[in-house]
Amino acid sequence: MDLFEYQGKQYFAKFGIPVSPGDVADNVDKAVSVAEVVGYPVVIKAQVQVGGRGKAGGIKIANSATEVVEHASNILGMDIKGHVVKCVWIEHASDIDKEYYVSFTLDRSAKKHLCMVSSQGGVEIEQVAQENPGAILKLHVDPTQGISSDEARELVTNAHFDPRAIEGATDILVRLYECFTKGDADLVEVNPLILTPEGKVHALDAKVTLDDNAAFRHPEWDEYRKTEELDEREQLARSKGLNYIGLTGEVGIIANGAGLAMSTLDVVNQAGGSAANFLDIGGGANADVMASALEVINSDKAVRSIFVNIFGGITRCEEVATGIIEAISRVDIASPIVLRLDGTNAEEGRMIIAQDKSGKVISKPTMLEAAQTAVELAKGNK
Ligand code: GDP
Ligand code: MG
Repeated sequence: MDLFEYQGKQYFAKFGIPVSPGDVADNVDKAVSVAEVVGYPVVIKAQVQVGGRGKAGGIKIANSATEVVEHASNILGMDIKGHVVKCVWIEHASDIDKEYYVSFTLDRSAKKHLCMVSSQGGVEIEQVAQENPGAILKLHVDPTQGISSDEARELVTNAHFDPRAIEGATDILVRLYECFTKGDADLVEVNPLILTPEGKVHALDAKVTLDDNAAFRHPEWDEYRKTEELDEREQLARSKGLNYIGLTGEVGIIANGAGLAMSTLDVVNQAGGSAANFLDIGGGANADVMASALEVINSDKAVRSIFVNIFGGITRCEEVATGIIEAISRVDIASPIVLRLDGTNAEEGRMIIAQDKSGKVISKPTMLEAAQTAVELAKGNK
């Protein structure tokens, strides 16, 4: 789950990472009252989960209430790369001497955490990586050891941080690592981390992606769910308790178990098609879950055919079949359904499907045949 900048800053603050004092506002009056509390000059920042807000006009400095009114009313409701601004973060504006970049993420192939720092902060890091890759220093961190102050200090020194910034940046890197690991994040990124003329180092921006698999340890994350930016399909799936990820192809996929769902994506590709989503109904899914899954897929306008791939273990195929029949009677399913049923009670499941009169369900004995049929139907149903 991605956090908004203001949530990321609040997350940072819990780990003692310095950020500017500020607050959120979803209307102009609130913006003015926050600015009065924070003290002028203030910076007004569009809260959208996309980079380059500054360039898009979503970040402005205001020196008076009149300027807050002007900028806040422009920024609220603004569309930045398809994201509509619903609220702004207002903080006391900082004077900037230097802008740096620091982040921690996971390097899966190295099985280590990856720390990246650069003295060329403030611009998008992808751009630095392209134009001046030598300006980004990387350090792999063994998760069983963590990062020591000495390692952090050496890294920022080698990255040519200003001597006045070294101690502050070292302390922040160690705290940021705590935030990344204890805070169960997949990514923590500060761009820019700034050095002020007074010699203070602090985070001016925050990008935090939390690891959803750790949500059970963090009941306090529920608060972030309320503002999470999900597309409609993802919202519907979540409300029905399904594991769903939207993709860009035309074959809707329902499978039981993440492994089978992934193989299903592969076999759809192999058959020359592409998946519109990844939907795992989990183990032991009953008729109701199956019906909900079909409803979610049906709500996706890009879907041209639906491939239901079930290998029954704990999940019983006759339950799945009943769910399909129920879904067809409950909602108008717009696309043909191709079904591969195997495993526990597959025969009973097929008998239930055979009685269906709608003609919407086509049974196929193998995964590959089912994928080929689903892809052909998707192509013919454009
Ligand atoms: P992004 O463009 O979406 O990454 O938004 P950032 O929060 O990183 O801000 C972009 C740029 O706006 C920064 O690199 C700064 O140059 C500028 N900026 C943001 N906050 C302040 C501030 O408090 N004072 C000054 N002078 N500039 C700021
Ligand atoms: Mg930034």
